[in-house]
Amino acid sequence: MAVYWNGKRYYSLDAYLRQTYNEKMYKISLNGGMTCPNRDGTLGNRGCIFCSAGGSGDFAADRTLSVAEQIEQGKSQALRKYSGNSYIAYFQAYTNTYAPVSHLRKLFTEAICHPDIRILDIATRPDCLGSDILHLLTELAQIKPVWIELGLQTIHPQSADFIRRGYCLPVFEQAVRRLRAAHIPVIVHVVLGIPCEDMEQMLATVRYLNTQDIQGVKFHLLHILKDTDLADYYQRHPFHLPDMEEYFEIIGKCISILRPDIVIHRLTGDGPKSLLAAPLWTGNKRQVLNQMHAYLKTHDIWQGKEFMR
Ligand code: SF4
Repeated sequence: MAVYWNGKRYYSLDAYLRQTYNEKMYKISLNGGMTCPNRDGTLGNRGCIFCSAGGSGDFAADRTLSVAEQIEQGKSQALRKYSGNSYIAYFQAYTNTYAPVSHLRKLFTEAICHPDIRILDIATRPDCLGSDILHLLTELAQIKPVWIELGLQTIHPQSADFIRRGYCLPVFEQAVRRLRAAHIPVIVHVVLGIPCEDMEQMLATVRYLNTQDIQGVKFHLLHILKDTDLADYYQRHPFHLPDMEEYFEIIGKCISILRPDIVIHRLTGDGPKSLLAAPLWTGNKRQVLNQMHAYLKTHDIWQGKEFMR
């Protein structure tokens, strides 16, 4: 029997927020002015192969503004699409726990104490969550909910090497355990379409996530952004990029086998059109999502379908 969440075939972030907080929220992308150990020479100088100059946070606000100013700017930009007054403060660009804890405390406290912020959402790497940071996150979670987003992308070592992720799977597992011991929800990023992966390998990453104590997932189709090392690689070694139908087949299978309690925060990548080099069909996000929802319906796909057999 098909399960529907707010009319969708999967447990969307929107459905989770309505169920849990009884309202829709708007996410404001903030810029804490961070860097990343994969870029500053600690682990590497060139970052993950797909990472843009903006640190995979190209929609984030101007880093020269204070956090409060960024929130106000984000609220005014949201006015066209959102009439509520509840926001998620999303520290998106670079690695947002890669700074002295005193600096992080100031940034995150300014965000979480803003009266219109309901949730603090922090994107980071699992190898940047020392005990002092976890202690801070635990303290902040006493004020309002705190979410942590981890860029795992894949479980396969060969793919992790290709994308230059810079940490191994046990590091991710330890971070999840420690975050969950502090009752902090974990959202995991997965990249689909890495050139050395076939369908079974992508599904193996999702099956693995089902075994982990995670609460959310963001699926991204590998995007080639201009001026990245991936763009250079693609020019020298063109590889197959899924077309829209192929991607729907991949994402449909991922949804079918995903544990039904895991909230799907994103179903495809969301890079800025000005930077997108390929695949260009992903540029019209609204149209892609509408067609994806139609595909899930036509093919009678719903989250957890296979998992529950
Ligand atoms: S960890 Fe994130 S910010 Fe750092 S290089 Fe990779 S994608 Fe970019």
